Amino acid sequence: MIKDTEVRLGHGSGGAMMKRLIDTLFLEEFADEAALPGDDAAVVPLGGERVAVSTDSFVVTPAFFPGGNIGRVAVCGTVNDVATSGARVAYLTCGFILEEGYPIDKLREIARTMAQTAAEAGVKIVTGDTKVVERGKADGVFINTAGVGLVPVNVDLSGAHCRPGDVVLVSGTIGDHGIAIVSQREGLAFSTTIQSDAAPLNHLIADVLAAAPNTRCFRDPTRGGVASTLNEFAEASGVDIVVREQDVPVRDEVRGACDMLGYDVFQVANEGKIIAVVPAGEAADALRAMRSNRYGADAAIIGEVTEPATPGSHTVRLQTPFGSTRILDMLVGEQLPRIC
Ligand code: MG
Repeated sequence: MIKDTEVRLGHGSGGAMMKRLIDTLFLEEFADEAALPGDDAAVVPLGGERVAVSTDSFVVTPAFFPGGNIGRVAVCGTVNDVATSGARVAYLTCGFILEEGYPIDKLREIARTMAQTAAEAGVKIVTGDTKVVERGKADGVFINTAGVGLVPVNVDLSGAHCRPGDVVLVSGTIGDHGIAIVSQREGLAFSTTIQSDAAPLNHLIADVLAAAPNTRCFRDPTRGGVASTLNEFAEASGVDIVVREQDVPVRDEVRGACDMLGYDVFQVANEGKIIAVVPAGEAADALRAMRSNRYGADAAIIGEVTEPATPGSHTVRLQTPFGSTRILDMLVGEQLPRIC
């Protein structure tokens, strides 16, 4: 075990370093039963109901990019994290940390985008906070959002519920958000055709849950990408997962950008995609429900959950079109800081 003595960029990667920080520091200090499953939202009892609650901070740079801005990601990210529990997302909070000198017209545009995105999701932004720090002490605008919603009776989703024989679906092309952001940075404007996929997926998740009521879990593969999400499921459930590379939808431009930059598309962030694990008997219905939603047109069945190859293993394997197999690892270190 590596001993961390100071915070490094990789601690915010969504991958292995961040998981280590959470497991060995935050969970040690804050351990609560509701936090232990490691899902994107905590589900807690309140007044006879079950409430899903989640929070997320947004530091993406640049704050404006093809397909959206930090405000759209700030609403979608939290809506999606709450929705993965199966909850009906109802209310959001928003906290702004602003740097002295930030243009008010840009802040207006971000706020307007947040209002439009919340309206699209059918959620209300009901409270917030504003802090301003001196010039040079932050980078323009950072946003924190939190969200709450009620979990319907009999809905009990968790990454720990995957079983051998289950089927893995993805709601569309992977890697779009990360590549859209990186293409805007550092003079890497090689492609203006790639747009962020940032989207609120609560309606899509509700559609899938209605069609496939025994769905095991949903997760939005944001930082750390599809590889990290599948590794989280495998570890939480004590299973292996096999993914067929040729069945995973990837845009040609995104694949080309990943080849050029040396990124593994399975580790690139998404902001408008969902991974679902469902029993085999409900996979066709889940796929049909995804494809009927505007954000799931390119949905696909990409793999299966299997028995662990060796007792105690939780390995994610990728079958390549050439017949070989490689291990799909959780993101180690940091690939793209400040991606969301
Ligand atoms: Mg998430």
